[in-house]
Amino acid sequence: MDVKTVLASDIDNTLTGDRKELKTLSRELGRMRESDELFLILSTGRRLEQVIDGFESEGIPQPDAIVSQVGTEIYLPPFHRDQDPLHVWRDMLMEDFSRSEALKLLEGLEGVRMQPDHFNTDLKVSCYLDEVQNPEAMVREIKRRAEYEGDGLCQVVWSSGRDLDIIPAAAGKGQAIRFILNLLKLDVEQIIVAGDSGNDRSMFEEFMRGIIVANAKPELQQFKKEHPLPDIYMASAPYAAGVREGLEYFELLGG
Ligand SMILES: [Mg+2]
Repeated sequence: MDVKTVLASDIDNTLTGDRKELKTLSRELGRMRESDELFLILSTGRRLEQVIDGFESEGIPQPDAIVSQVGTEIYLPPFHRDQDPLHVWRDMLMEDFSRSEALKLLEGLEGVRMQPDHFNTDLKVSCYLDEVQNPEAMVREIKRRAEYEGDGLCQVVWSSGRDLDIIPAAAGKGQAIRFILNLLKLDVEQIIVAGDSGNDRSMFEEFMRGIIVANAKPELQQFKKEHPLPDIYMASAPYAAGVREGLEYFELLGG
């Protein structure tokens, strides 16, 4: 498939946050998709139903692929609520991941609250560290355990100063997007990613071209400091307006 651009965007606080701006952006993205200029991937921590509900209730744009649950699930159209995730991706990740082993990385740590069951899947252990006294120190400890006790089979994703996910080493938003591009043999001129928080980091690491919205969390702002490249664009506007500004910067939308 030939397409000029792939935009892989996070949803929460990247697209959402300003309803009016999102409406404008969604219209533009829809127009670009219709003229085959754009392949849109939504890449999110949400589960599938929450993405689908958001098309109606939040004005989230219709995508060409969905990466959900922090890059552990992939969905291709037609989207529906009780759709199974793409088996090839799931089966590959299942080979090297054990939920019970991943859970052991949290043993004996005080103040960890598990996230609701629907965010805890065969391929993802998710908790909140918002009641932990020193969450940054705990994240370092969990990462250390993952490296030395988890045999490097899982990775720890820390986001928004609250959400901690333990997922397979081969998973993550960036790697899931790469898998889609290869699977669909997408021949693209450019890939642009957009995000606001720590679980978006893997997209920036994988593709090195993207838009960081102005409201981004410190952990993603840090990425720009570590990689002061012109292709990592810090928008001056927040949310969807920031994504739009970035698309103009990359000359995909007229200013
Ligand atoms: Mg977000």
